[in-house]
Amino acid sequence: QEEQRIRAQRMEGLGTLAGGIAHDLNNVLTPILMAVQHLRDDEPDPRRRATLDAVDSAAERGAGMIRQVLSFARGAEVQHSAVDLAGLLREVGRFCGETLPRSIELVVDAPACLPAVSGDETELFQVLVNLATNARDAMPDGGTLAIAAAAGDGTVRVEVRDTGAGMDAATAGRILEPFFTTKESGTGLGLATSAAIVKAHGGELRVDTAPGGGTAVSFALPAIEDVAPPPAAPAPGPTTGPA
Ligand code: ADP
Repeated sequence: QEEQRIRAQRMEGLGTLAGGIAHDLNNVLTPILMAVQHLRDDEPDPRRRATLDAVDSAAERGAGMIRQVLSFARGAEVQHSAVDLAGLLREVGRFCGETLPRSIELVVDAPACLPAVSGDETELFQVLVNLATNARDAMPDGGTLAIAAAAGDGTVRVEVRDTGAGMDAATAGRILEPFFTTKESGTGLGLATSAAIVKAHGGELRVDTAPGGGTAVSFALPAIEDVAPPPAAPAPGPTTGPA
């Protein structure tokens, strides 16, 4: 469709522009981060150290946003290898456990004997962290964040579910748009990037949500263990081309 093509082109242009800006910003932020960490480590006065801590965490937040824009601009370049999603889920659980407030209960349900999927572990890790971060943001008053994986139908299905604010239909309809955000310091790139990565892995991001009813984001990736072996090559005959 013509309209879709123009839209995709515009998004690509936007990605390139944002990527260029993010790259330059990164060069600005890196020395700030290094200098402020250096100053903080040498600062004996606790009040001044607290101020430097605040500068450091603001700069870190900026760096995190830049990383997200850069990875969106780079697009999902999948480096394929066998990925153990159960292990990855547990790793994401450990990672989130360190950053979640105590009002949020984290439940990780990753069975030990899941088939592997083919993909890029770093990118899939990023998807899960993006989804978990959104879940956390949706539960300012606490709740449950459940990350689960299960095998079925030659796929491994992963779900990140929260008991948070949920979304109305108007919001839910726009969340995959790059730069759409309802957050004060959001980039609006978490879900757009995640959807692109999941698509590059042969899956599709699915969002189930209702206002006040929490949100579940899920996707299924083709399993690579226990798939049928490729059909035997046909016996060479007189019609076979040159070897
Ligand atoms: P960002 O988190 O930077 O806003 P995202 O692309 O990850 O960017 O999300 C876009 C928007 O989708 C969010 O601003 C929020 O309004 C909505 N959203 C995403 N995940 C959830 C969730 N789990 N619960 C409620 N709203 C969500």
